[in-house]
Formats: sequence, structure tokens, C-alpha cells
Amino acid sequence: MTQDFRRAPLAELAHHDAFIQRHIGPDQTQAATMLNTLGLDSIATLIEKTVPEKIRSQDALALEPAKSEVEALAELKTIACKNKLFTSFIGMGYYDTHVPNVILRNVLENPGWYTAYTPYQPEIAQGRLEGLLNFQQMIIDLTGMDLANASMLDEGTAAAEAMAMCKRQNKKNRSDVFFVADDTHPQTIAVVKTRAEHFGFDVLVAPAEQLTGTECFGALLQYPGTTGQVRDLTDLISAAHEQKTLVTVASDLLALTLLKSPGEMGADVVIGTNQRFGVPMGFGGPHAAFFGFRDAFKRSAPGRIIGVSVDTRGKTALRMAMQTREQHIRREKANSNICTSQVLLAVMSVFYAIYHGPEGLKRIAERVARLTDMLAVGLRERGFDTLHADYFDTLCIKVGESQQALYQTALANKINLRLVGEDCIGISVDETTTLHQISQLLNVFSAGDHGMDLAALDAQLSSDQASAGLPEPLRRNDAILTHPVFNTYHSETEMLRYLKQLESKDIALNHSMIPLGSCTMKLNATAEMIPVTWPEFGKLHPFTPIDQAQGYQQMFEQLQQMLETCTGYDAVSLQPNAGSQGEYAGLVAIKKYFASKGEFERDICLIPASAHGTNPASAQMVGMKVVVVNCDSKGNVDLTDLNSKITEHGSRIACIMVTYPSTHGVFEEGITELCAAVHNVGGQVYIDGANMNALVGVAAPGKFGGDVSHLNLHKTFCIPHGGGGPGMGPIGVAEHLKPFLPAHPIQAVPGTDIANGTISAAPWGSASILPISWMYIKMMGREGMAHATKMAILNANYVAKKLGDHYPILYKGAEGFVAHECLLDLRPLKEASGVTEEDIAKRLMDFGFHAPTMSFPVPGTLMIEPTESESQEELDRFCEAMLIIRKEIAQIESGEVEYSTSALHNAPHTQDDVLEDNWQRAYSREQASRPAAWLRAHKVWPSVNRIDNVYGDRNLVCSCPTIDEYRS
Ligand SMILES: *Cc1c(COP(=O)(O)O)cnc(C)c1O
Repeated sequence: MTQDFRRAPLAELAHHDAFIQRHIGPDQTQAATMLNTLGLDSIATLIEKTVPEKIRSQDALALEPAKSEVEALAELKTIACKNKLFTSFIGMGYYDTHVPNVILRNVLENPGWYTAYTPYQPEIAQGRLEGLLNFQQMIIDLTGMDLANASMLDEGTAAAEAMAMCKRQNKKNRSDVFFVADDTHPQTIAVVKTRAEHFGFDVLVAPAEQLTGTECFGALLQYPGTTGQVRDLTDLISAAHEQKTLVTVASDLLALTLLKSPGEMGADVVIGTNQRFGVPMGFGGPHAAFFGFRDAFKRSAPGRIIGVSVDTRGKTALRMAMQTREQHIRREKANSNICTSQVLLAVMSVFYAIYHGPEGLKRIAERVARLTDMLAVGLRERGFDTLHADYFDTLCIKVGESQQALYQTALANKINLRLVGEDCIGISVDETTTLHQISQLLNVFSAGDHGMDLAALDAQLSSDQASAGLPEPLRRNDAILTHPVFNTYHSETEMLRYLKQLESKDIALNHSMIPLGSCTMKLNATAEMIPVTWPEFGKLHPFTPIDQAQGYQQMFEQLQQMLETCTGYDAVSLQPNAGSQGEYAGLVAIKKYFASKGEFERDICLIPASAHGTNPASAQMVGMKVVVVNCDSKGNVDLTDLNSKITEHGSRIACIMVTYPSTHGVFEEGITELCAAVHNVGGQVYIDGANMNALVGVAAPGKFGGDVSHLNLHKTFCIPHGGGGPGMGPIGVAEHLKPFLPAHPIQAVPGTDIANGTISAAPWGSASILPISWMYIKMMGREGMAHATKMAILNANYVAKKLGDHYPILYKGAEGFVAHECLLDLRPLKEASGVTEEDIAKRLMDFGFHAPTMSFPVPGTLMIEPTESESQEELDRFCEAMLIIRKEIAQIESGEVEYSTSALHNAPHTQDDVLEDNWQRAYSREQASRPAAWLRAHKVWPSVNRIDNVYGDRNLVCSCPTIDEYRS
């Protein structure tokens, strides 16, 4: 129906709710058709039949009305402009950097990269897997270690994970003490102390020399130190090894292009952040941390590791290695609770290294070192002494009583310095520092014109290396980044094409729907993404004086308030960097709450069998014992079993961690009863908020019994998955837990107590991606947020209805409907035909689709979550693919086709397959690679055939293969 707009008033023509209709896939006509398919008259009826009445919200969300894209962007710009862009010399692990424009536009701002999912389906993820393998190679080279993982959340948590790994790994030293050198970044110390407290370790912070002779299972040293000192750690590390202490070194990638590597000095683990390799500071994140380690530790290492394997044609192919170490399989015995990590930022940083190459990186580092030297010489001439003789980019200047005066003079010149102790000032130079700025700094310390000839000083320093801060014995003399990948793509054209080549191997949301249950792959709208790269958000150091970050403060407050409204909680902490970290922060808050009441005996965490693996892994990290609660035949938490566990453990119960609606895809009727039962014995209820996409505006966890929840902003609130991160996992809490939210030692988080501990290196986690969720809620507003939830439930029920006659839907709610996702039970089909869930996942690639979540939470199932953003056309296309596949299975069931020679068993099909001269399969080339009509218009070819996981784990290779191996 076309509308006649001639008689419409201006207000109607402005079309203010346009964004809601852009975000939501189905239009009104499609929604009506879909409801009709379900035999329902309205969306309201659908919600009545799916969401239990006792938890349904009666009132509309107390949010503002929806804003248009233009209005929301303008409002946010006004807020952002309250941030002041001073020059930062603060250092402490955060440095300004030039993001190469070719990477900014083609990776950070490109949905082909940022909307992809974690590479669990490697045949359609070889591009980002190659990026991550390159990242590991870069870390291996620069740290001098045997192996590296594919990224960690931030430097602080990487240090904490290193501590935990050293404890697991060190069987020879039974001490519970972890030593931390006092020149480690203070935020790292805070995160390590919090982790140690809940593991039951003692942290000793002392001058590095005291490591020798201290009985401890592990130690953390920083190189260069937080105040800039560079020193050879070889002797200290070998003395530590003599006393059976494992040593972790926190280091800096740019420094390592020039400095002797920690590996060469004997380190067992090397960690740090990649931020200064072309990732904006962003007021604290997101950035990727790195984690290099000895080969002997590989089974015990945290995080994802990319490994090289082969496909069925013997071709080199990449995949995530040794998944058996992870929380999905080992649960409370997992190496770590990390799930979502920092893939996008890891690949950005390695692209920076690839673009600059080893020579370019060294040139950047030498320039930084020279500017630092010039500053040091100039300051000495002004009569100032530096604390350390040997340094790379950071000076700690003894200024005595003039500390405050100098700091203020710098501020007046829009320069941020670091206050160190009572009488020193820290200055850290970075890639963006100019000679003019060095001159400005010298002026600050000269109370006027420094009057020095800096050109002459430069000439002198470049001819006389003896006066430099980096003495010869500390310089590395091994070659770095020798692999061709770091020595090929230095022109912008070459780089652009390399990035495109990798991108085009992968399936992301800009190609087709990614129906991943539990992971909520919805639209990441461009208007939401645009503010992320505004300098007003990107260029702020996280420890910037808070009066310069008023825009951020205002944005945080508004976002916290909107999230409180959406969840029904009383307070929100924005610190946790992923859902897993939110779980940890929430459990820590629960522990602190009980401690405040003297209830120290509560150490049991009840977890239903259907829980995500991060839940038990997080419980273990706070020292709680996991007691599993069974599910009944309908997929619901078995309340009888729950009650018997409650009777058995009573006052030892700290909490239950329950996902709602459950990972089985139903709104359990018994949720309020469950919450009441746990509350009755004084326990707390942690509601895992990963499924908030089924709740916002319809029911609020803070109102139906939850005490605390994390929200995966990269699921429900539109932060893109980035190919496996970044994410954000803020927690909402009820009033009584509010006093126990995470704090920060450098930048005070309003309303928090430092005794609560610190969860992330930065006070507000990955602050610079929070504008995404802010934009989303502002543009959807009061009416849009609830509507999105209802449409997500409609889409899921439509898919369940269309597929239900062909694949059994494992669990349904009381009235026969599912929540916002559904589980297809493939076990009967497997029984009858031999076809596995993996065959179906791989066959979907031939249709251009990413598989649904496989075998979680029930083995032998697929979990489909279409989200509200997919139109009916796209849902129909996906269902058609699934129905074609169902027919292929039927042919195997009937004996018409043999399983071992079927298209399903051989999927996915590559160009290598169909271009073979001698095609001898039982099916046609057309059926192999164009099994549906739409593939004639456009197709993404899986770039490798099915990958051999077992081979890859048996022959673990986590560094880049030679070019010849790629060609084979
Ligand atoms: C995604 C997810 C998590 C973990 O969140 P991350 O952000 O990946 O750490 C926890 N629980 C459930 C149910 C999830 O789906």
C-alpha cells in the first residue's frame, strides 16, 4: 500500500521512529504473515503465550521516546565534545598512536571485520584466523617465547591469568605467595590482588630485587618498569628459577622491537597490551592483551590458541586449537573463564605491524627513544635528575617540591603528566609525540623559554649513542618479524588488497544471518558505530584528570540509567570487559556482601546442568564449590532436585547462577519459585543476562527475583562481536549489592570502595564502545526496545514453526512456544542416517550460512537464534536451506544415497572440489556448491575443505607456516 503524503503534517513526514523500522527486519506485512503462520492474531497474544504472566512487566519502559539517527548522533556529539583532548604523557601502558588510515577504514570501520563471530566454524573464517595466527607470530617474535595465544582481555587480567597459570603449572613449589615487583603498573597490581584474594593467594609487592630469597610460586616483573626503568632481568629470573619460582614479565611491544626479549632473559610467561600498535586509547579500551608462554605450558594456558592443521584435501588450514582446555568442555576445571576476547583489536595491531614491517616499527621505536633522550638531556641541563639512567620512552623526573606547580603549568598548556609519589613526575613519549611537544615540555620545566638548540642536540645524540637511555647490552640483536607476511604489504595498495583478501574468506553479518543461539548476532547499526572513532572518545587516556572527561561521565551515567531501566536493577557497574568478567564481578560482590554480614560459610554455587561453561568456571575463580542442579525432561530446572540440594546444603549456599530465559530456549514457569527457594535459605540469585534479548521491556530480572546479572552488551545491546571480541559485560545489581561494585586504584569510580577490588585494568572497561549501546537505546527508545524483544520472540517462533515438522524442537514452553531461540534435536536423525550436527553445520556453508550454535547446551543439537533484525525473507532463505538439507538426510535414511559419499559428509565444497577435472562424486557439481537458487546470484566460497581437528591438536603449530606450506 503506497501512502499519500501530500496531506501529512510536517511532524509525520519527519519519520522520527525510522530507526526502529531499520533495526527490525520484518515490516508490518511480514509480521502479520508470520503471526498467521503461527495461528496467532497479534504479537500481544504471542507474548501472553510465551512469557509467564507473573513475571511480565505491566508498565512501559521508563525510557525517552525514540530518537532519529540524526538526532541521537547530534546529542551524543554534544556530550562527546565535553571531553577535552589534552596531550597525554601519562603512559602506564596507554599511549597515543596513529591508527593507519587503511586499517581504520577497512578493518575498524568495516562490518566485514567487526560483525563476524568467533571462528568456531573455521572453514568460513580463514581470514580472521590468518589475522590471529599472524598476531600470535608477532607476539612470539617480539616476546621471544615459544607460543602465544590469540588475545586476552586487557593487561591486568592477562597478568592475573598468568598468575593462575603459574600456580597450575608449578608443581615443585607449594607456596601460596605471588610476588609482584613494585614497579608494575598500579592497575595491574590491583587486578592481580583481587584475583589472588579470591583464589586464596598472598600477594607480596616489593622491589624486584627482593624476589631472590622470597618463597613464592610465581612472580610478576615489569619490563620496562612503570616509571620507565629498563634493566636486564636475566640474573633475577635465573635466581627465581633456582628457588622454583615461575616468572611472568609484563612488557611493551614497541620497546620490544629494540630491547632484548624477555624470552632471551628466561621468562616463563610474557604479557602486556597491544594498544600502542595502532589501537586508540579510547579512555581504557577495548584493546587486546597478549600472552606468550613456554611450549610446556600449552595445555594449561588460558584463552584461545589458533593452530595450523590440514583439510580433507591435505591443504593447510587454520582453526582454534585445543578447545578441550576451555570452559565449554572443562567447566569448573577450565583453565580460565574467558570466552569473548579481543579478536578485532588483536588483528588491528598485527595489521599495524604488517603495514609498518620490522623496519618501520624499529624506526618508530627509535624516534620515540630519541625524543625521550632529547627530553632527558634537556631536563638534566635544566638541573633536573631522572630516577633511572636506563630507559626507553618513559622518564621519571625528580622535581621535589615543585611537583604540583609543574603539573599545573603543564595542564595550563593542555598537557597531562603523571604524578609519581610526592616528588616525581612521569613523562611517557609515544609515536604521536612531536619535536614541538618536546620543546613545550622543556618550556614547562624551564618556567618559560628553554632556549636550547634542539636540532643541534639531535645531531649530537645521533652521532653519540653513548648518551642514550638504552645502553648497548640491553638492545636485542636477533631479527624480528622475519616471516614474509611482515615484509610484503608495505604499500597502501598491497595492504588494502591483503585486508580484502582475508575479509572475503569469511562470512560475517554483511553477508547473511548468523543464527547463533545465545550469542544474539543482531544488527550493529552504522549510526551506532560512528561515534566509536570520534577523537573525542578515542583519544582520551583512561587516567586523564576526570574534569577533562565530563563527556564520558555523562554518557556513562545515562547509559547506566538506561540499563537499570531495562533490567530493573538499582545500580550498574561498567567495568567488566565481557560476560565472563561480569560473572566474576557479580560473584565477588556476592562474596563481599556475605563477608559484610559475617556469613563466611557460604561457599556453594548452584548451577543448572544447562548453564554456559563460563558460569562454573567463574564460580571456581572466586573459590566457590559448584553443585549441579539437574534439568527435567522439559528442559526446566528440576525444582525437586533444586529443593533437595537446598535442603542438603542450606546455609552453605552462596548463590544460584541461572540463565533466563534458559539456554534451552524457554521461559521457565518456575523461575520465581526458584528465586524464592534460594532466597529462603539466605542465598543470592545470579541471573545470567546473556538472554536479555528475550526480556528487555517484557520482564526485568531485577524485578522477578535476580540480585545481580551481567549484560552482554555485544549480544543484546548491539556492540558487534568483532570476530570474537571486543565485548562488554557490565553488571546490574539490587540495592544491597550496590556497596560492593568494582573500584579502581587510579581513577576513582563514583560510589565504590577500593576494598571491593578491581576487575579490569581500566575503570570503565572498554569505554569507547559504550557509545554503541547508548546510541542503540536512544534510537529505539521506550517503544522500540520492547518491540525488538517481541519481534525476536516472533522470529524465533516462526523459524521453530517452519522447521519443527522436519527437525524436532527439543524444548517448548507451557503453551507450545519457544522464547527467542530454539534447539533442533538432531539425535534421532543421526541415529537413522549417521548424519551429524557437524555435517549439517558444514553443509550450511555451501548455502552461504554460518551454522547455528552447535551442541550447546545439549550435545547433538543446533541452537537457532534469528534475532529481531532478520527479515522474513532472510528467515525463509535460511529455512529453505535447512529443508533442502533435510531432504538430503532423507535420501540417506532411505538408502538412496550412501552417507560416506553424500554431499553432507563431504561438505563444505570448495572451488578446488568443483574445478577438479575428474568429478566422480555421487552428486553433481551444481548440487555440491549451488544447492539453492540464490547462490547463482552470489556465493561466498569456503576457502578450505573440512578441517581435521585431531591432526591439528596432535601436531600443534601456532606460528605462521611458510608461504610454501600455504601453497601446497
Ligand atoms: C555468551 C554467554 C556468556 C559469556 O559471555 P562472554 O561475553 O562471551 O564472556 C555467558 N553465559 C551465556 C548464557 C552466554 O550466552
